[in-house]
Amino acid sequence: VKKAGRDGVMLYNSEFTKNLLKKVELQNSLKEATKNEDFEVYYQPVINLSSKKVIGAEALIRWYDSNTNAYISPEKFIPIAENHGMIYDIGRFVRKQAFEDLLIILNSYDPNFIMSINVSSKEFFQDEYIKDLLTMMKDFSIDTKNIELEITETHIMKNSDLAIKILNKLKENNINLAIDDFGSGYSSLNYLKKFPISKLKIDKSFVLDMLKVEDDRLITQTIINISKIFKVKVQAEGVESKAHEFELMQMGCDLSQGYYHARPMPINDFLNFLEGRNK
Ligand code: C2E
Ligand code: CA
Ligand code: CA
Ligand code: CA
Repeated sequence: VKKAGRDGVMLYNSEFTKNLLKKVELQNSLKEATKNEDFEVYYQPVINLSSKKVIGAEALIRWYDSNTNAYISPEKFIPIAENHGMIYDIGRFVRKQAFEDLLIILNSYDPNFIMSINVSSKEFFQDEYIKDLLTMMKDFSIDTKNIELEITETHIMKNSDLAIKILNKLKENNINLAIDDFGSGYSSLNYLKKFPISKLKIDKSFVLDMLKVEDDRLITQTIINISKIFKVKVQAEGVESKAHEFELMQMGCDLSQGYYHARPMPINDFLNFLEGRNK
């Protein structure tokens, strides 16, 4: 780059260029990984607070980028995948892997186990999504009672007419729907009444500090109360200690997910975890 010294041009030699290059490299790396299905799906247990039993798991994608030799957080690469069209293949990969692993769990642990799968709004609002999902469930002989979709409320509210259509279609097909990160987006309570929502997940940003920050505790309690009014299950995520869990139980929370019980783990570790808890 010539003309160095002029403000606009300075940019080219700077952090800006480096960051842009890094971004493009990451995009390409992710494209490659998507093509090769170079991901793993980890599972984090969901515990029923009254029975202490593991009643389900959340499927969480993992990507080890061999170009940078590092795990890249899904918080970082899922948005890239959403913006560059890889999310559909990634979503399908996660679904397929999670269904395959779910079948093992249903046979070896509990026929009522519930697998929760994160759905990007991009997928959710795609025409073929539900059809695709139902076909895949049929192929794997998986019953609707054994799966649950997690979607963030922000995404639902943003596109309400289409969202209502899709939500109704999910209802017709008895698909369980959890509202992820509840409390951190738009707070319209209307859809809780109208739609087939089976669970609210309290965002971990509230749960993590609820023992220290009074506001977070109040928000957590409020979400639990809302869940009772609308007769849906409520689950806390980010439960990192026994003290958190004890408090949540007192507050009337149904389900718990967090490092206190286990971090997300590969299927074999998860099966061992289940077996250990069963003894
Ligand atoms: P999320 O759906 O809110 O998932 C919960 C996140 O909290 C996970 O991060 C999980 O590892 C983390 N977590 C669980 N327990 C604790 C705890 O006790 N303490 C703390 N500090 N964190 C805890 P992860 O796996 O890094 O995923 C981040 C986000 O990436 C997810 O947030 C979700 O939005 C997205 N994501 C992950 N997998 C998928 C996927 O398969 N598809 C889509 N569309 N998004 C995904
Ligand atoms: Ca989730
Ligand atoms: Ca969440
Ligand atoms: Ca989140």
